[in-house]
Amino acid sequence: MTMNGKLQIKTCPTCGSDKIQWVVRDVTRKYKGQTYTVPSVEYYDCPNCGEKVYDREAMLKIEAYSPAYRKTRVLVRAGTHTIAAGAIKGRPTTG
Ligand SMILES: [Zn+2]
Repeated sequence: MTMNGKLQIKTCPTCGSDKIQWVVRDVTRKYKGQTYTVPSVEYYDCPNCGEKVYDREAMLKIEAYSPAYRKTRVLVRAGTHTIAAGAIKGRPTTG
């Protein structure tokens, strides 16, 4: 049994689908009508019901980009393990 701190999910907590998968995507969120984008967030995405499960690291990163937390100027690094850039190459960002 390994304890690397990474959230590990095999089935969706909402619908129970085993199709849930680890993805790295830009996350667009809204705060008080203001839209902001958090680049390259790692999280679990369920294609069956659309559930998104963020681990602590992802939440910290989202908070770091959120206008709600901006005034505190919290700097959160992506962690020691850098995002695998090759994993999502070529994905169109238009629209
Ligand atoms: Zn689901």
